Amino acid sequence: MDPFTAPSGFPPRTPVVRDCTACGACCSAPDIHALGKPLGVPCVHLGPGCLCGIYPVRPAVCRGYQPDWVCGEVAPLPTLEARVRRFLEIYGLEEEAGL
Ligand code: SF4
Ligand code: SF4
Repeated sequence: MDPFTAPSGFPPRTPVVRDCTACGACCSAPDIHALGKPLGVPCVHLGPGCLCGIYPVRPAVCRGYQPDWVCGEVAPLPTLEARVRRFLEIYGLEEEAGL
């Protein structure tokens, strides 16, 4: 399946993104056990411009992350907060994240 095609019943609201635009959502929204990072909180290594401050030595989970249809939903949003909120909404995690 094309990783940029949203699941049926989930029409994209925003233009599809096919490359990472360093929007910071995937470094902020999910919990990342390898980093002890909780849900909905930006990674401590996320720097200015949403760039990774430890890029050369980032953990495997970050190295393996690939852009997909969710990027098309979150990346065009205007603020990191809005992107994180949308990311969590897509995965049904807003309540768990305390939003
Ligand atoms: S959510 Fe997608 S576009 Fe945004 S930083 Fe992560 S991979 Fe890149
Ligand atoms: S280590 Fe870097 S790539 Fe991984 S979540 Fe943190 S900022 Fe993002």
